[in-house]
Amino acid sequence: MEPYIQISFLNDFIFCPRSIYFHQLYSGFKDTIYKQTPQIAGETAHTSIEEKKYSTQKYVLQGIEIFSEQYNLCGKIDVFDSKTGRLTERKREIKTIYDGYVFQVYAQCHALREMGFEVKEIIIHDLVHNKNFPVPLPENDPVMQQKFENLVQQINDFDLLKTDFVPNKQKCENCIYNQLCDYSLC
Ligand code: SF4
Repeated sequence: MEPYIQISFLNDFIFCPRSIYFHQLYSGFKDTIYKQTPQIAGETAHTSIEEKKYSTQKYVLQGIEIFSEQYNLCGKIDVFDSKTGRLTERKREIKTIYDGYVFQVYAQCHALREMGFEVKEIIIHDLVHNKNFPVPLPENDPVMQQKFENLVQQINDFDLLKTDFVPNKQKCENCIYNQLCDYSLC
């Protein structure tokens, strides 16, 4: 069986397929060794979820591990209200709803459904502006669902050792791994 793909890799892969390698390589290290301030700030948005402080209600699931056999994905959710069927992913600040954000919540939605939960609504929440961004359910947006499936397939097919990879200078300049990567253009 193929190893599970971490849900957080979906966004990383869109940015640069090679970044997944470094993400895995440094996953056991202290964040400050290789992460930059905006990324660390974004991750603090999830701190109360990780510590399960968001709600004490039993029907509100927080930070639980999820798996999808169908898509070979694993990860964690932020918040799922099993009474209302609302799945919420919190971001520190949202400037635009990137495809990667949508794929992340699609992965969570599919995994929760496989685990027997009924997901009826998906929200991405901007903590800085206290604003909700509704995301159509996968069955209501076939184009995004197809893009999601294509992305999962691309990750499964990606070969780090293939030599035809072409880096993007602008991305390399904004990449937290650019001091470590031998393909970096900066
Ligand atoms: S430095 Fe460039 S090629 Fe390397 S992982 Fe980052 S974006 Fe990709």
